[in-house]
Amino acid sequence: MNSAVALVREADAIRTRIVGRYREVTPSSAREHARAAGALAGGTTGNLRHFHPYPIYFRAGSGPRMVDLDGTAYIDCFLCNGPLLLGHRHPAIERAIANHGSVGSLVVNPTFATDLAVALRDLLPFAERVRFLNSGTEAVMTAVRVARAFTGRSKVVKFFGHYHGQDDQFLVGLGPSREPLGAGVPSDAYASTVVVKYGDLPALEAVLATGDVAAVLLDPAMHSGGLWGSSPDYLRAVRDATRRHGTVLIFDEVITGFRLTAAGAQAYYGVTPDLATYAKALSAGEKLAAVVGRADILAGLDPDRPASARAVFQSGTGNDGTAPLAAGLAAVATYRELESAGEYERLFTRSARLASELRALFAQFGVPAHVNQLGPMLQLFLTEAPANFEACAAAPSGPVALFYTALIGEGVLLSLPTSNHIYLSFTHGDAEIDAVLAAARAALSQYDFATLVRAAAAS
Ligand code: PMP
Repeated sequence: MNSAVALVREADAIRTRIVGRYREVTPSSAREHARAAGALAGGTTGNLRHFHPYPIYFRAGSGPRMVDLDGTAYIDCFLCNGPLLLGHRHPAIERAIANHGSVGSLVVNPTFATDLAVALRDLLPFAERVRFLNSGTEAVMTAVRVARAFTGRSKVVKFFGHYHGQDDQFLVGLGPSREPLGAGVPSDAYASTVVVKYGDLPALEAVLATGDVAAVLLDPAMHSGGLWGSSPDYLRAVRDATRRHGTVLIFDEVITGFRLTAAGAQAYYGVTPDLATYAKALSAGEKLAAVVGRADILAGLDPDRPASARAVFQSGTGNDGTAPLAAGLAAVATYRELESAGEYERLFTRSARLASELRALFAQFGVPAHVNQLGPMLQLFLTEAPANFEACAAAPSGPVALFYTALIGEGVLLSLPTSNHIYLSFTHGDAEIDAVLAAARAALSQYDFATLVRAAAAS
């Protein structure tokens, strides 16, 4: 048998053991998937929630833990893909939702909306006006529409490796190519979307010089592309260039908002955008999003706008759901209290410890790895490829998905295997970090991930 065939066989055997252990600990999820797949498309409510051989189904969460259908408790470092920065069922959020009960879920113009807008304006000085929506996708769509109306221009710049929700016009350039993500996205839909390499200032300047760029849209964490973050100098240069060209700068803070500081990435990097979008942690698990920013740009949404401002349509039946607004108000107040108490620093320190000890474990077991960490977020790349967006995006994702699957077998949901998104909440203390590290050590001791990485690179 030649060595390439032997390597593939060895990797198959390891994979079979990891998946076997997963099946052994999640029999009720297998049964639920069989039931769900006949009713829900794909047996889940989103593509990323599905992974092989079948997704895991949870029945409850509390603090940093979730319990699956078999009654097994897991440390949850996925946090519903980010919203639960305060952990599951934070008392302040539970109380806010319970107290809103006498109001009803949809009333016209609830005062909660004004209260939360005022709270956001206090936290984010550039948030002169706020419009609430339901999802990050809608917030980005609205920010871009408002920017187009304000500038009278059509093009929008986004960057390779930046995700901005599921609107067709932004489902391109998620990886290093302009290919749309999946079928069903017509090329007309993204004809006005210009995709530029993040960090390449001359390329951005050249597009801005065409004079037809309404907005530059970016995620300061570059989260979907691998959590590569931003250089403050580059962000300052983008700020300067957009100002010179009369282009609206939009920070998509759906991931970074309330997470990198209570006031998000714009405070963390010290660069102020014209507009910003928020969702996820904004209401700590309820469904709420916002577009915030300069009053003159958002004036398009105001029926009493000055005659010079073009009217922009924006509506949404659920935009002022009182439970999400009440939860948002409690969440923003809680983030500010935690920041004043020094809890962001402590959470960042715990996150940095998790990252550095994971690096040490991978090194100890001879597994080539990059561990990216930005504030309370991590992403792993198990590969020999260099530590950059293009190389890691091209590297096989099979080994890291198997690492996450193996950790489920050890009682830790570090990330859903399809996502590679690790988030820590304020409820993840040193004991939880230790437990995650112990689970990682157990997985690396049982399964030869160095062989999985070598086999994936060779195939
Ligand atoms: N922008 C960014 C940066 C995101 O990460 C996401 C979701 N992961 C969105 C927008 C879309 O938000 P939603 O899923 O709430 O539509």
